[in-house]
Amino acid sequence: MSDIQQKLLEIVTQVRTHLEYQKALGVTVVESPVVPASVAAVVAQPVIKSVKAAEPAPPEPENKKATVTLSPPASSGTLSMVREELGECTRCKLCKGRHSIVFGEGNPEARLIFIGEGPGQEEDQQGRPFVGAAGQLLTDIIVKGMQLKREDVYICNIVKCRPPENRNPEPDEIEACEPFLIKQLQAIKPQCIVALGNVAVKTLLKTKAGITSLRGAWQTYQGIPLMPTFHPAYLLRAPGDKKLVWEDIKKVMAEMEKTRKG
Ligand code: URA
Repeated sequence: MSDIQQKLLEIVTQVRTHLEYQKALGVTVVESPVVPASVAAVVAQPVIKSVKAAEPAPPEPENKKATVTLSPPASSGTLSMVREELGECTRCKLCKGRHSIVFGEGNPEARLIFIGEGPGQEEDQQGRPFVGAAGQLLTDIIVKGMQLKREDVYICNIVKCRPPENRNPEPDEIEACEPFLIKQLQAIKPQCIVALGNVAVKTLLKTKAGITSLRGAWQTYQGIPLMPTFHPAYLLRAPGDKKLVWEDIKKVMAEMEKTRKG
């Protein structure tokens, strides 16, 4: 098989995986397609232009838009400097019950970052974010839906230690941990944030509004476009809402495509 045939086969396989994933999400009609970056990179320029023209700019309804800019921490460095500064953290009571600190993982120069709530049991055991059942669903969204590799993006949480019995993190725990999340963002400098679920959205946007009313509408955190969407753990209980998440993720893909091309 020639190189070009091999490449075409890869593209067809990627497109098929992508469409099968959309079908699993309940999508029955493909309107204006968002071309996954990996596919866009190998198809002709005019095709990409026509896709771009068909994709409307992300809506920013004034009544839903919130802009949060916190004072930057004194220093911003590399991710490993942030990890070093965090150390064997005892800044809040979550340190007492944890097995491991789940700092976050992925590409230190990721253009896209997913922020969840806090580690669950599996994550606490492995020291890695989103590796349980909800994590598998998030991985499917990234790999099968967005056609990215999990290691291309960065994944972390609002708090880095598991809350007992998976309860929501409390305000003092969030307050102790948030400076490190801000420093992680300053080190990575992503172009887009996806906030997963109520705790992430309420913490980042300093709002009392819930995820149901905020999801799907662009916000800003620290000057970075932020898309709120449902948490994958919620989707495990309400699979019918996967198609709403896919709508949100398509907006993220369109935004990434826009910024990739400058
Ligand atoms: N839920 C989260 O919010 N984060 C994880 O890392 C795992 C499950």
